Amino acid sequence: MNKKDNILIIGAGLCGSLLALRLAQRGFKVTVYESRPDLRTTDISAGRSINLALSDRGFKALRLAGVEEKAKEICIPMYGRLMHDIKGNTFASNYSGREGEYINSISRGDLNGILLTEAEKHENVTIHFNKKCASVDIENTIAHFKDYITKEEFSVNSDVIFGADGAGSILRKNYYLERKFLFSYSQNYLSHGYKELEIPADKVGKHQISKDHLHIWPRGEYMLIALPNMDGSFTVTLFLSYDEGEYNFNNLTSEEKITTFFEEQFPDALALIPSIKDEFLNNPTGALGTVKCSPWHYKNKTILLGDAAHAIVPFYGQGMNASFEDVTVFDEILNSFEDDEEISDWETVFKRYEKARKQDTDAIADLAIDNFHEMKDHVANPLFKEKQKIEKDLEKNFPDQYFSKYSLVTFNEEISYNEAMKRGRAQDKALLNLIVDDEVHTHLNMTKEELKVILEKVKEETNDILEEDKIAGL
Ligand code: FAD
Repeated sequence: MNKKDNILIIGAGLCGSLLALRLAQRGFKVTVYESRPDLRTTDISAGRSINLALSDRGFKALRLAGVEEKAKEICIPMYGRLMHDIKGNTFASNYSGREGEYINSISRGDLNGILLTEAEKHENVTIHFNKKCASVDIENTIAHFKDYITKEEFSVNSDVIFGADGAGSILRKNYYLERKFLFSYSQNYLSHGYKELEIPADKVGKHQISKDHLHIWPRGEYMLIALPNMDGSFTVTLFLSYDEGEYNFNNLTSEEKITTFFEEQFPDALALIPSIKDEFLNNPTGALGTVKCSPWHYKNKTILLGDAAHAIVPFYGQGMNASFEDVTVFDEILNSFEDDEEISDWETVFKRYEKARKQDTDAIADLAIDNFHEMKDHVANPLFKEKQKIEKDLEKNFPDQYFSKYSLVTFNEEISYNEAMKRGRAQDKALLNLIVDDEVHTHLNMTKEELKVILEKVKEETNDILEEDKIAGL
């Protein structure tokens, strides 16, 4: 491994551009090839998630690269969920009982633009757009490209290749096509897809519903969510089965049926989406899936990062955050490497990185599936609501002692996803058991003493469950 090595990154999306920036800051020579046009000069948002929820793990990586403040300038804080029932009633639920714990709505394009601009400020970074990688010769670290504008085909030889080319990664595809090593790979599609719609700003450019919340219309088998944009609009996403149930993407094909579906299920949202029929019929339907694979690297030659290594469903709002955290963890590995004279090649770095990272990306993939069911269904369940109320009270009254699963995952970037999953799941189980067994009783104005009793019971039960899980090897 050498600072003079030519590093090739495939993909200048969120992960690839942050990785390019960070490697450049560390003095590496980086060339990036991106298949799309430069999103700072061309509008290419159609069909991809327009805004995203950015939280503490993402911020930590942006801070490392010195761009946290720039990102914050384009963030809209969302302090909690605002649930909309079928009659149009709403109820709010904060993400945390602690002050200052919230997630942020941010434009994918604007954030990506900031990262590209910052990366390009470094002389040792070159970014090429409109150049699609067609295949990778992993043994010889040669990537083959096609230029979308000139139609020219060309090859790039480098010392090491990072595949940050997203869920449909070409580098990953070459791992299993070339069969040079034992490559494990799974891709599981969800039965549901997604479609984006828009609630426009009002006549004076203001948000028509609370911009301080992530809005959810949970309906059991499907749901609608909405995140605010800086221009007063909301990006609305419908998550719906492709072919199951009375309403699904395959049968919502006429204007009449689309209107009936929204009138019945989301009347308050329908009133805010004037172009519903056009948008529904013209906007693409996207698939959702989980990709797990290993190993991520091939010898000292290539490695996968971001969605290319671990695409997840979007229900924890963590895909981008996890991809950014990849860069943080990779950077930490490089730090340990530079202090250690014994280790002197990329393969050692890649192996250490993968060992440190894999169980965490597997954990967030599983948590994201859990949250799919929680968001579309459980959030409206009275038992779940009671659990959430207790958790908010515990967090508020014992801010240093109680952290819900959501909080462990979203606001505690020093705790790994895997640890957050284990502790969070045990805690959920403990609290639900105590409620069902009538061991904890709640009322509107709980005193601190009453809550302290609950806290101790939850802690004890959680530790018992964790101990049992350990014995069971979970
Ligand atoms: P990408 O962002 O997909 O970037 C890959 C880049 O590689 C792209 O620019 C692409 O054009 C380029 N590329 C692909 N193939 C090639 C090729 N052959 N040659 C050259 N270039 C190529 N995450 C969150 O944290 N919070 C959220 O709220 C959230 N919401 C989401 C909502 C939806 C509907 C979806 C689908 C995802 C959401 N995510 C969210 C996940 C997030 O979008 C991804 O995890 C994140 O974009 C991963 O970044 P990446 O750079 O690895 O991949």
